[in-house]
Amino acid sequence: MTTKHRIAYHIEGIVQGVGFRPFIYTLALRYGLKGFVLNNALGVEIELEGENHALQSFDKALFLELPPLARMDVCQKKALSFFGYFDFTIHESEEGSFKSSLVLPDMALCPACLDELNNPTNRRHDYFFINCTNCGPRYSIIKTVPYDRPNTSMQPFVMCDACQEEYTNPLDRRYHAQPISCASCGPTLVLKQMNGLVLAYNEEALELLAQKISEGLIVAMKGMGGFHLMCDATHNCAVQTLRERKQRPTKPFAVMFKDIHATEAVCALEEEEKKALVSQLRPIVLVKRKTLSTCVLSPLVAPEINRLGVFLPYTPLHVRLFNHLSHPIIATSANRSGEPIIYDAEVLEERLGGVVDFYLDYNRDIVNSSDDSVVQYINDKPLLMRLSRGLAPLSFRLTDANKHTILAVGAHQKNAVAIYLNQQVIVSPYIGDLDTLAGFELFTKTLQTLERFYDFKPDIIVGDLHPHYATTQWAKRQGIPFVQIQHHFAHILSAMFEHHLEEKVFGIAWDGTGYGDDGTIWGGEFLLCDTHGYERVAHFEPFHLLGGDVSIKETRRVLASIVWDLESCGHEVGEVLNAYFTPSELKSLKQLYTKKINAPLCSSVGRIFDAVAVICGMEGRVSYDGQSGLFLESLYDATIDEAYTFTCKEGKVLYKEAFLEMLSDEPRMIASKFINALAHLIQEMAKNYPYKVVLSGGVFQNRTLLEKILTCKAHTFISQHQIPPNDGGICVGQLYFALNN
Ligand code: ZN
Ligand code: ZN
Ligand code: FE
Repeated sequence: MTTKHRIAYHIEGIVQGVGFRPFIYTLALRYGLKGFVLNNALGVEIELEGENHALQSFDKALFLELPPLARMDVCQKKALSFFGYFDFTIHESEEGSFKSSLVLPDMALCPACLDELNNPTNRRHDYFFINCTNCGPRYSIIKTVPYDRPNTSMQPFVMCDACQEEYTNPLDRRYHAQPISCASCGPTLVLKQMNGLVLAYNEEALELLAQKISEGLIVAMKGMGGFHLMCDATHNCAVQTLRERKQRPTKPFAVMFKDIHATEAVCALEEEEKKALVSQLRPIVLVKRKTLSTCVLSPLVAPEINRLGVFLPYTPLHVRLFNHLSHPIIATSANRSGEPIIYDAEVLEERLGGVVDFYLDYNRDIVNSSDDSVVQYINDKPLLMRLSRGLAPLSFRLTDANKHTILAVGAHQKNAVAIYLNQQVIVSPYIGDLDTLAGFELFTKTLQTLERFYDFKPDIIVGDLHPHYATTQWAKRQGIPFVQIQHHFAHILSAMFEHHLEEKVFGIAWDGTGYGDDGTIWGGEFLLCDTHGYERVAHFEPFHLLGGDVSIKETRRVLASIVWDLESCGHEVGEVLNAYFTPSELKSLKQLYTKKINAPLCSSVGRIFDAVAVICGMEGRVSYDGQSGLFLESLYDATIDEAYTFTCKEGKVLYKEAFLEMLSDEPRMIASKFINALAHLIQEMAKNYPYKVVLSGGVFQNRTLLEKILTCKAHTFISQHQIPPNDGGICVGQLYFALNN
């Protein structure tokens, strides 16, 4: 007689709403095991009875065949005495105490659904909203947890019998897939004019939309986390019109291609980039494009730079749209400049009436908006530039518990927030800049959403040192203990969190601007850090930001400031600035410089990039963040080994004299020698400290610079992969500090 055993599993992680219970059910049937599986507040509980070899086979398969979206953070097993179950069952969810389960990001169409979409014999053939447990919307449709259909924006749609049948069958791929629907019971499409007039429905609406795009019109289409503005990316006039109407002169637009082959016709793709493009995350990938002459795209898509943000269709609706299109399209978040993505048709009509000609809407609400995620690959490793759709909310499980619940409110630009509770760190999707009312509204809405999802109430808030950040002022009003962390320290901490570093490190934080602990503006910092504090051991020699923030947009002012610093040190600079300013502009600017009125000191490497780009021929103003860096990268020549000399004396990096040389070098030379100089500087500085070198801050999104630094094998350089090195990662660094202090 064989003996039977009983084993209980306790599993935590991403195990709800991802087809985990039917997966367990299927395995139990396969190995002839009895017992049950159920969801509860913490995750999933399983009890299994059967013979030893069957239990072992189950255990193996559990790890090997995990559903694509599932993640096990904890898997505890214990043996129990035999009970004698009759069968294997899926128990109904334990209601009430669900709130620590993780809310998942939206997912792109899975291969099985794509096959069905294209299969004329399938009942969901050509259906715009096909999805299953392994794909489709999550975060964007959830109002509150538990993640059940009545708590989502699918609630108004009553399942037809066929869908109901699939929904309740544990062996079906759509068992408990909350957004399940079909053409006879799901959401419908409508094409409208901007005054709300309906032009067409469903298939006809989609065909008409494609036709409008091909005619060179500007349209909007509701995607997963919001509306995209779209136009034909090969149509010069269309792109020109979009730029004019959006008042967006040069900032690159992302381009959506039909498939990977169409992308490769325009872009030089590396293996990892291809994998990312076709992965189920479907991010925008920043890639090198082939030379302009062979490019079918309008040169206005991404002027003056050799990179392109590209992505592939990620909803069934996108796939269907490309059934009717023969060219790539611009697909950019629909918003007013500096504001968050629009996700509601009424708001679209109101705010983008002058931009969009027609829009395609559908009647399933987007509850939580999100933008597309953006990633680039450096030495075959990802560097995340925007953490959003497909990735966020992003959760990390910590090994140690902390007694607090913590909210980190992040920075002011590229804002994202992070929370800590129950051994989980959860990072919100990208929120964006908080300069506008709409931006700040999204910040508070996101906080409320997290509160609702997780029953979350912070007992500590942690934020930036900057007194004028909207986040700082908001945090101070909450009546909860508020801890402020210096911006660049938070950058380094965000990288330390990602790499589980607790020891002392040599942190190099270079970015646009951040508030320093001496009240000046920092951004070219060398910090000796551990998780408790930092020492600023060196920084770039400061210059004056003439007119304060105006200098950030009008980059030629930084050049003027540096040139006048050289002059006041006795260098002959002649009339060089006349090339960039009119005499009257120079006169009033010089007054700011001499009297030091509204001219704060600043040590930012990002701003020095701006000044160098101006000498290299970029217009004296930038229209988007990172423009100067991308411009210099496009000029960079890898065959040039020379570098300017940057030295560090008494904690100050001296670089201004290199500008004298730059004024007589040609652009290709300048860009190459400048980027080489920065890389050399880091390699030299690293020799002074026997620690790991942690690189963070927006400047380290510069692929050419980072690749150059990483060629040096004499030091251990740590860069970021999962958490953005730009201000989008600040919240994680802030949280890491609070967890350790
Ligand atoms: Zn699917
Ligand atoms: Zn149906
Ligand atoms: Fe920053």
